[in-house]
Amino acid sequence: MQASKRIRTILGGGSDGWEVFLRARDMIAAGTPVTELTIGEHDIRTAAPILQQMHRAATGGHTGYASIPGIPALRDAIAARVSARTGVPTTRDNVMITPGGQSALFSAHTAVLDPGDTALYIDPYYATYPGTLRGVAARPVAVTAHAADAFQPRAEAIAAVAQDARSLLVNSPNNPTGVVYSRATLEGIAQVCQDHDLWLISDEVYDTQIWEGTHISPRSLDGMAARTLVVGSMSKSHAMTGSRIGWIIGPESIIAHLIDLATHTTYGVPGFIQDAALFALEQGSAFEAQIAEPFRRRRALALEVLTRHNAIGAVPNAGAMYMMLDISATGLSGEAFAHSLLDAHQIAVMPGESFGAAAAGHIRVALTIEDRAFVAAFETLCAHAEALIPGQT
Ligand code: PMP
Repeated sequence: MQASKRIRTILGGGSDGWEVFLRARDMIAAGTPVTELTIGEHDIRTAAPILQQMHRAATGGHTGYASIPGIPALRDAIAARVSARTGVPTTRDNVMITPGGQSALFSAHTAVLDPGDTALYIDPYYATYPGTLRGVAARPVAVTAHAADAFQPRAEAIAAVAQDARSLLVNSPNNPTGVVYSRATLEGIAQVCQDHDLWLISDEVYDTQIWEGTHISPRSLDGMAARTLVVGSMSKSHAMTGSRIGWIIGPESIIAHLIDLATHTTYGVPGFIQDAALFALEQGSAFEAQIAEPFRRRRALALEVLTRHNAIGAVPNAGAMYMMLDISATGLSGEAFAHSLLDAHQIAVMPGESFGAAAAGHIRVALTIEDRAFVAAFETLCAHAEALIPGQT
């Protein structure tokens, strides 16, 4: 008996560029210490008061089936937060609570795509995107954002393939590049969506990690609220990756359908997790800034190190917990460079190629270890790159 074609092809076949990550994990399992600058996992754990609230909620009895779209108080809190941050009037009927952003991405695409529909996404991309689109039986089509444009996608490039498409997935602040889309970029995207009648899925899970400029939610642009589904998550903003809590913001009619979907899939998110999430949101933006602070600090430290290593180009990362470096001057691919760094110095980074062809010749460095160890590893990484560049000392 064979599994469905749809589930068998989620991974798409071929190398997925995660070999370096898996090798690093194997080395660690075999007892070799490795400095991991790979995935987007905080080096802090969920704050104790949030866990205490979770415990209180669970022991207080919130352990039965919870309300499927989410408990009203949490939906209200998220609606209020979105209204305040974007100026778009938002009520609980625009909010669906999901088990994390990943589930929200899957559900949002399920809500707007039929099997075989063309779904656009931008390359470089968060590694799960094409698989998520294949998982909903859509036909993923990548639109390249070029390094020469500082990885800001061009509206013309999207328009060129938008003819038969039904949706467009964007992510700002971006994983892997750290780039924050400018107003001009987002207005261009909004125009293409309106011209070609596309749904826009806007993944904003890094919206509290902004180091320069401002985050603009495209749902707030003229005419976009009716065709935009925003994906949010508490994984990054509140260091709650393991709690699996996120949301979708969208038109009421789509949220109503999403409730049907959740009723037949997840059956909602545990009540005690939702209570803890509400408590976490009530801590306000000062708490969110505190969670983001280590990444802001390490980005500044990395930029300082780079002033002494100008053969390596940094992608202008105005947000998110990553820094992308152009190591093409070494003559190596991102993947070959990452393997050589792991072999020579036991430092693991992600090859750009793991995030699509547009990030070839780059590596992604996660800003996720303690400052001093981070600076030491970053210095070593830069020196390793320079030693590979012909003519550099
Ligand atoms: N979107 C992006 C861009 C991400 O980087 C991640 C996690 N790394 C997610 C969505 C999913 O996060 P979660 O499911 O933990 O909310």
